[in-house]
Amino acid sequence: MSLLLDDVTLTYPDGDGRLTALDAVSLTVPAGTLTAVVGPSGSGKSSLLAVAATLVTPDRGRVVVAGTDTGTLGPAAKAELRRGRIGIVFQQPNLLPSLSALEQLQVMAHLSGRRPRAVRDRALELLDAVDLAGQAHRRPHQLSGGQRQRVNIARALMNEPAVLLVDEPTSALDHERGAAVMALLARLTEERGTATVLVTHDRAHLGRADRTVTVRDGRLTEEAGPGPGPGPGAGTVTGPVVGGAADLTV
Ligand code: ADP
Ligand code: MG
Repeated sequence: MSLLLDDVTLTYPDGDGRLTALDAVSLTVPAGTLTAVVGPSGSGKSSLLAVAATLVTPDRGRVVVAGTDTGTLGPAAKAELRRGRIGIVFQQPNLLPSLSALEQLQVMAHLSGRRPRAVRDRALELLDAVDLAGQAHRRPHQLSGGQRQRVNIARALMNEPAVLLVDEPTSALDHERGAAVMALLARLTEERGTATVLVTHDRAHLGRADRTVTVRDGRLTEEAGPGPGPGPGAGTVTGPVVGGAADLTV
């Protein structure tokens, strides 16, 4: 099950006019592949994730999550889709200080109707998958930054999402830990079959991606130059191509 953005335009109110955050963006992310998104600050990367997450409704275009065209859904159905099909990892882990790593994952499944035993088993399995089996009972302050980010990632996978959206997960980590988190996300994407979109500043990590796209002034282009290039089965990018656009809001 994949993620599809089709000709998506998003604007925000800006004084008397509108600011175009996403300009006719089309992107297909097949299941089990990781697309990295790079671009200057203010270019629209987080807006792209917000639209894909159904947290923001675009002015125009289609967002299809695991076969569901989200344009037809009301707020409750979107919330349901987010809970069941979309995993979101933000830059800061936003873990609850009073809960252990295991409990952070368990609360995610609170509304899912699954049996507590099954929820606990899945949480433990995921903590193992992110190499935190021995830390299940630690609270956030007892974990390192990299470990907290791994709890964050495991939590996002708790409800078996089809789509995994990750915003600058390595920006608070040193290079080595950042590389480890990237490798982990690439592995989990393949293992769990998620359609993963990952925003990153760190170009050193792009080799882990099946594909890299650049956002500039809200427009999407395929990353040129050295790198792995689009892998077999990776999606296609269409839409206007721009070059040399000035950075708006660094
Ligand atoms: P990036 O993640 O690449 O830094 P964003 O997607 O956050 O970029 O922002 C893209 C543009 O949209 C920027 O000019 C930003 O100021 C603007 N923007 C983002 N969110 C909002 C909002 N909620 N209201 C108004 N403008 C916004
Ligand atoms: Mg951002």
